Amino acid sequence: MDIIKIGKFIASCRKNKNITQEQLAEKLYITDRAVSKWERGLSLPDADKMLDLCNILDISVNELLNGEKINMKDYEKKTEELLVELAKQDELKNRKLMTAMWTILITSLAFYLGILLIAVNTLEEGWLLGVIICTSTILLLIAGFIALKLEVEAGYYECKNCHHKFVPTYKEALFAMHMSTTRHLKCPKCHEKSWAKKVMSKD
Ligand SMILES: [Zn+2]
Repeated sequence: MDIIKIGKFIASCRKNKNITQEQLAEKLYITDRAVSKWERGLSLPDADKMLDLCNILDISVNELLNGEKINMKDYEKKTEELLVELAKQDELKNRKLMTAMWTILITSLAFYLGILLIAVNTLEEGWLLGVIICTSTILLLIAGFIALKLEVEAGYYECKNCHHKFVPTYKEALFAMHMSTTRHLKCPKCHEKSWAKKVMSKD
């Protein structure tokens, strides 16, 4: 708290109201010396005088303690800017997750097909070929699960019916039919099943 700023603020509010230090002191049942001390930044009004002082000066306690008028429009604008900024960060994070998801999916699929192609062409049929096919299939499935996890964590699904945006459970996402990133999901709000579209932000 800036006691000097508060003092100057009290003085300017008092002058705006066209009252003298003596008159203000009288209204608050205190001495004009006390008012003078506040205005010079030597002391703060006692808590039990603060509400009355604010009423007389037409200011809020918040404004008194900040030592300035708080513009409500500014306040709302600042809050709004902050929310927009947070939403942007959320969207950026989701886009990054989706990029990671596609990268994992495409590289692992390419790897898988490459290994199969090489193995089939160079190895005689036998246990080694079987082991290679099994191992690479398991690795592909693991990559698929990781990709699915990233996809579920990135953004939301929008219900086609009521446009509610929701995050499905991992299990729901796994067993839902899907085309690209559009999934056939049950909406938790309207309970209709629809082809829910993947969206990156909540608004
Ligand atoms: Zn719905």
